[in-house]
Amino acid sequence: MPAFARRKSVAVNVGGVKVGGSNPIVVQSMTNTDTADSASTVNQVMQLARAGSELVRVTVNTEEAAKAVPTIVKTLRDFGVTVPIIGDFHYNGHILLKKYPECARALDKYRINPGNVNIGKKQDDNFKIMIEAAIEYDRPVRIGVNWGSLDASLLTQMMDDNAKSPEPLDAMEVTRRAIVESALRSAENAERYGLGRDKIILSAKVSNVQDLVSVYEMMAARCDYALHLGLTEAGVGSKGIVATSAALAVLLQQGIGDTIRASLTPLPNGDRSEEVIVSQQILQALNLRSFTPQVAACPGCGRTTSTFFQDMADQIQTYLREQMAVWREKYTGVEEMKVAVMGCVVNGPGESKHANIGISLPGTFETPVAPVYIDGKLSTTLRGDHIVEEFREILNNYVAQRYGSHVLAETVV
Ligand code: SF4
Repeated sequence: MPAFARRKSVAVNVGGVKVGGSNPIVVQSMTNTDTADSASTVNQVMQLARAGSELVRVTVNTEEAAKAVPTIVKTLRDFGVTVPIIGDFHYNGHILLKKYPECARALDKYRINPGNVNIGKKQDDNFKIMIEAAIEYDRPVRIGVNWGSLDASLLTQMMDDNAKSPEPLDAMEVTRRAIVESALRSAENAERYGLGRDKIILSAKVSNVQDLVSVYEMMAARCDYALHLGLTEAGVGSKGIVATSAALAVLLQQGIGDTIRASLTPLPNGDRSEEVIVSQQILQALNLRSFTPQVAACPGCGRTTSTFFQDMADQIQTYLREQMAVWREKYTGVEEMKVAVMGCVVNGPGESKHANIGISLPGTFETPVAPVYIDGKLSTTLRGDHIVEEFREILNNYVAQRYGSHVLAETVV
């Protein structure tokens, strides 16, 4: 377990999923379908939930989207998908929540952007209307500040004050402080309008890793609201994954963060659930939660004779992830299993011994055999053309014996 203490926050119940307090850090995601297209949205929510997303957000940007929300939620529940659905509102949330009470009722949480809810208003009217809806339907909210849509009047006022200061800060520091200020002032207002502290989650997203760390450190020091972490507009491919992991790891390691999202840009027709897997991997890599058995694989080098072992490592990791839908129900603790797939004898047997189950494939000039280690001991040696299938079979037996008997023992007790 990690040696650091989790920051104390007020727990929030989001449609049955507890966020904050001492509850596990929650993985969430967001659809990119047109919410008005109920069928596509239902399918994508199901895909994200199947991948392990514990909360799913959908945009509610138009009247058509608001009308579709009750159908989407009902269809999901009819299919047995219980994942809470969050409505993401900008500009017109106050209108949609008022005009479409069935939408307000169907959603488990409302995301409010304080930077664009009151545009054109001198007062806090629209924000207040949304908070009143949350109170009426007994729903929590996330007050989600984003530096791309930061409250312009607040920023201008803080920039002006800073310019008059004897020791002015640089503009970026003022912006970071304005982001935090926007979130905290909005939360205070929400409480003043009657929303409970246990109904408020805060986020303040920026797209630069160091800025994100700095903003969340400030926010965490100044309040005990549950915090949603995410690097906004993280980007495509490895850039998005690495930047998100770097930012979130620094904060999570300090005990900051109650729910996370990886805001990755999928490739056209790419798999949306990648953002769920990345969030899970971040939490699992930090030993904060376990979701799927992990495969340790060496990077390969000149000693590996072919891509066989890379293919095998990939196949085994995919197989483990696919099996988890069934294994999760049947085998308690299987998500903590460690598997090693190694390329040669240099580190192969050693790494295999540290895993629950490991295989070391033959490198160049090595005898074409693959020793398999189970719980640190040499169990068998595979050879021939069916090593992957045979190793999978050994894996299945190991899981059934090791984790199946655990279930049985608990049942008997
Ligand atoms: S375990 Fe063997 S194949 Fe893998 S990186 Fe090390 S030396 Fe290379």
